Amino acid sequence: MFFNEKIETMKRENLDSLVEDRIRYTIKYANENSLFYRRWFRKHKVNPNEIRTHTDLLNLPIISGKTIRENQPPLSEDFQFRSVDWNQVFTIHETSGTSGSPKTFFLTWNDWERYAEKYARAFISQDFGRGDRVVVCASYGMNVSANTMTLAASKIGMTIIPEGKCVFPLRVIINYKPTGLVGSVFKFLRLARQMFKEGMLPSELGVKRLVIGGESFAEESRSYIAEVWGCKVFNTYGSTEGTMCGECSQINGLHVPEDLVHLDVYDPRLKDFIKDGECGRIILSTLLPVGEKSGTLLLNYDTEDTTTVLSREKCACGRTHMRIFNPQREAETFWIHDSPFNRVDVERGVFQRENMEYLTGEYEAFLKGGILKEEVNLIVNLECLNEKKCNIPVVEENFLKGFLKFKPQLRKQNIEGRLKIALNFLRKKELQIYKSKGRPKRLLDKRQVRGTKTKHNEKK
Ligand SMILES: [Zn+2]
Repeated sequence: MFFNEKIETMKRENLDSLVEDRIRYTIKYANENSLFYRRWFRKHKVNPNEIRTHTDLLNLPIISGKTIRENQPPLSEDFQFRSVDWNQVFTIHETSGTSGSPKTFFLTWNDWERYAEKYARAFISQDFGRGDRVVVCASYGMNVSANTMTLAASKIGMTIIPEGKCVFPLRVIINYKPTGLVGSVFKFLRLARQMFKEGMLPSELGVKRLVIGGESFAEESRSYIAEVWGCKVFNTYGSTEGTMCGECSQINGLHVPEDLVHLDVYDPRLKDFIKDGECGRIILSTLLPVGEKSGTLLLNYDTEDTTTVLSREKCACGRTHMRIFNPQREAETFWIHDSPFNRVDVERGVFQRENMEYLTGEYEAFLKGGILKEEVNLIVNLECLNEKKCNIPVVEENFLKGFLKFKPQLRKQNIEGRLKIALNFLRKKELQIYKSKGRPKRLLDKRQVRGTKTKHNEKK
């Protein structure tokens, strides 16, 4: 089953030529309709007519969240990225980045339709359809995902229960018998715990599919949630920038809607594309169908996320659009000496199956300097189901096994004593993340670095 069979199963060569048509139109549209791009092409001596293929995009500079912020009030007199008249803007959104200053996005009704189509394709590829009832635990409001998923449901005859948050009365599940839920790893875990407490088993409530949105996670977390809920767990990668990639029934990478968003994977220096199969930075460009309009266009936009292209071959589900590995946030990647690791690696250590007999799954981790200059400490706080019954040696062994699974360099450092790993076993609600507002930061680097940032961190 497909939402848009012709597009989703298009032969590679036809898909590639459709993409190039749309690259040309999008560049032309940007030049004609956005103050930012008109100046940007001129400033970088780029003739928009010469950007004709996907490789020509390499000749354009990369733009970032910072570029957007610098080209909107208060730093600029107008919203330079806006690319339609004010009277054609349907909604205005703000996304807050790490700096806290929001980026503004303008959406026309057509942008909404395209965003919704991307989600509709993903839902159908996950076997959702007419008759399904889905609780959306993602927040409505300035974030586009929950709203556009709701619009997607109307296109495929699905019922949405727009809770907007993860904590809701269990009667919602009992009375409306949802067949699916959209949320996050920890929302699903907390909801399951709430059910256990009230004597219910999540696996007996008729939920057939869970969809995780907007975060990276370890495969171990997925399989634990799938076990607890007794159903399939799918991943989606959506954002206000308009990515919206989703896993299909095969659960073998996320399909990128290649006709609507162009995704390149760059080397760490952001100078060149890297080969499929290698990990790099996701740089995205909006693709506008010929003749259509858009409120905000992104060309060569640095998502600050990393991924690997798994395949551009036809998937067993019948779709031809490329598949990527679960993206990870660059902001959650840290270096110990010369080796990088991501928060997901820590999560892999926590969610080893045997550990889940003793842990809730909630965790937080910190990097700190050691007594010796060479020494780095990774401190991981783990929340226990019952700290008195926790088998500490078993959890420690499993954590190390999972955390170091794909990290031979870190394993070496650990053996040599340059990386010390300490686990703390805490009672319920003792983790520091419970005190923080907003999206919890589960991995913090508290090592001494030069400059004012350290002083600021120390005060905290
Ligand atoms: Zn597929």
